[in-house]
Amino acid sequence: MAPPVANVAVLGSTGSIGTSALEVIAAAPDTLRAWALSAHSSCQCLLAQAERFAPHRIVVSDPVAAAEFCWEDLPPQVELLTGPEHLETIAREPEVDVVLAAIVGSAGLRGTWAAVEAGKTVALANKETMVVAGPLVTDLANRTGARIVPVDSEHSAVFQAMQAGRREEVKRIILTASGGPFRRHSAEQLAEVTVEDALRHPTWDMGPKITIDSATMMNKALEIIEARWLFDLEPDQIDVVVHPQSIVHSMVEFVDGSIVAQLGSPDMKLPIQYALTYPRRAPSVATPLDFGEAMSLEFEPPDEERFPALALGREVATSGGTAGAVLNAANEAAVERFRAGELHFTEIVPSCRAVLEQHDFDPSPSLAELEKLDAWARQEVLRWACL
Ligand code: NAD
Ligand code: MG
Repeated sequence: MAPPVANVAVLGSTGSIGTSALEVIAAAPDTLRAWALSAHSSCQCLLAQAERFAPHRIVVSDPVAAAEFCWEDLPPQVELLTGPEHLETIAREPEVDVVLAAIVGSAGLRGTWAAVEAGKTVALANKETMVVAGPLVTDLANRTGARIVPVDSEHSAVFQAMQAGRREEVKRIILTASGGPFRRHSAEQLAEVTVEDALRHPTWDMGPKITIDSATMMNKALEIIEARWLFDLEPDQIDVVVHPQSIVHSMVEFVDGSIVAQLGSPDMKLPIQYALTYPRRAPSVATPLDFGEAMSLEFEPPDEERFPALALGREVATSGGTAGAVLNAANEAAVERFRAGELHFTEIVPSCRAVLEQHDFDPSPSLAELEKLDAWARQEVLRWACL
């Protein structure tokens, strides 16, 4: 029997993940339909997407940007909603089957939360949701029956590899990291890194925030925390290995010592498609791996001294509570300041640690408390940099 058509709401459709997702959807018109799209301020791009995909609704979360743009070419059957609250409107819509959470940063939390609350299948790219509020989100999903399918390539790999055994047979997971553009940089060279250098990733083509997170290895720190809550693992069951080719997307070791890996080309269309079509698999839209050409796969332990973000990630994964929200917000603010030329590359992680150590830890915060701390941590990073 042919699979039914799934209506997809893409939160953050104009970003790197969002545009790849629309390519996946365009390649499968019989099974996937773009029902609703959103952008923060890229109105021109969103308009072009609306013309091409004819969704029912589009949301511009920045009302000022929406008001300044001329919408006369918007097809009349597409409804335009403006303001961040409407991310929740489209995430909850009864006709929507799958919500792709592809907004960057903790700005993505509310829309993801609404989708989980409405019991949707959530294709989760926005790792910050799990970093900020992992235990609250998984608890909510357990109550509403929402299914969270990871889009982050490492977590998609773990999700897939875990199906090779029973949950209680999992010994540990091994997240792979490309090592970023500065894998071989000395401490002195790291101190000299420019924004341009940090935005040049060797294997993945991604949005600017995650590209800089990959360069500091904060991305891997956030992924340790994401994996902790997504898969309900103890922090000491989560290891990281540097694998510069980004072909092995991650691995699961079972109690008998067998290690199951998922491999593929470094193309986010693969995990996006898997999350949108799960539990089915659809013909690939990503470039397949070619074993007709010689290929070597290397693995090496990460250098935790040059990349102190990893230890920070492990500490936060162990603490839980408010620590993830504070680390995430501090990092978002520090990355912004680095991009604005106000912080050195090597100050990003220490500023996050300083803010984390200052905060009033609460082991079981509410969502409202986490949002308050998010705003507080951003302010603290501004102050830290001024000292
Ligand atoms: P991006 O910067 O390319 O796109 C971000 C999207 O979010 C855009 O559509 C933008 O309009 C929207 N947006 C930005 N700020 C917003 C706000 N304040 N409110 C509402 N919408 C807002 O980012 P990306 O690289 O596509 O990453 C998206 C998410 O996916 C991130 O959480 C990232 O960590 C995760 N992720 C990305 C990749 C990748 O390859 N790009 C891989 C794994 C995980
Ligand atoms: Mg990843």
